[in-house]
Amino acid sequence: MSTQKVAIVTGAARGIGAAIARRLADDGLAVAVLDLEAQACSPVVDEIIAAGGRAIAVGADVSDEDAVATAVDQVTAELGAPTVVVNNAGVLRDNLLFKMSVSDWDTVMAVHLRGAFLMTRACQRNMLDAGWGRVVNLSSTSALGNRGQVNYSAAKAGLQGFTKTVALELGRFGVTANAIAPGFIETDMTRETAERIGVPFDDFISACADDTAVKLAGQPDDIANAVSFFVDERARYVSGQVLYVAGGPKA
Ligand code: NAD
Repeated sequence: MSTQKVAIVTGAARGIGAAIARRLADDGLAVAVLDLEAQACSPVVDEIIAAGGRAIAVGADVSDEDAVATAVDQVTAELGAPTVVVNNAGVLRDNLLFKMSVSDWDTVMAVHLRGAFLMTRACQRNMLDAGWGRVVNLSSTSALGNRGQVNYSAAKAGLQGFTKTVALELGRFGVTANAIAPGFIETDMTRETAERIGVPFDDFISACADDTAVKLAGQPDDIANAVSFFVDERARYVSGQVLYVAGGPKA
């Protein structure tokens, strides 16, 4: 048990993060299921434990420096020092540029960029001490540009630069950093987008599936599978990459 690796997955109470947490637990890692409210993480934690895995629920806002430090301390005390970080927590505050408020800009930057920075910085020492580590950041096809998402696309493109620099700085210590850029994935986030623009979710799903080469809507497990690959010890020579998991070529 002492050699079991410990992962923190942010934004893991639901959607893609929950699928990643379950998958890493299946892969044999102990998993801190982190989201704004610890209580919201309990169903995912219970599922992992019922399947024979190890997990805890952790409540923290990833954009809050003190909350991140406290969360990492809790994980270290209860599971062990985390050497795998999956920066998945995310929010949307979509609007056209001329209507976008400064607060909607700042919120998106804070959760995606500041959050990934704070969590990765808080865990990098453990990775150096272990001589091994994995950082996986959730980017998006929106990094290539998406109408109504100047804030989100800037943050997701920023995460790609962040990923490449972490890869360069920490590579010599056995740490890889990679990004995954999903296309459309069926989650509460995309359900809320469909509601906001007044399109029935099923129609939204079919339209998004039609727009892919494989004619499929992505599922959270499609992303979890890619995370599992990057985290695997055998992926030691894969670093600084952005993998588009989007049902077809994007970049
Ligand atoms: P989701 O909205 O279903 O889940 C996001 C989770 O992050 C929620 O549980 C939320 O509470 C949590 N969260 C938000 N702010 C937080 C904060 N400050 N601190 C801690 N947790 C916080 O979204 P999802 O669809 O599962 O997306 C997960 C990630 O994948 C996001 O980064 C998103 O931008 C990215 N992504 C999603 C899609 C998609 O089609 N669903 C496509 C590309 C990228």
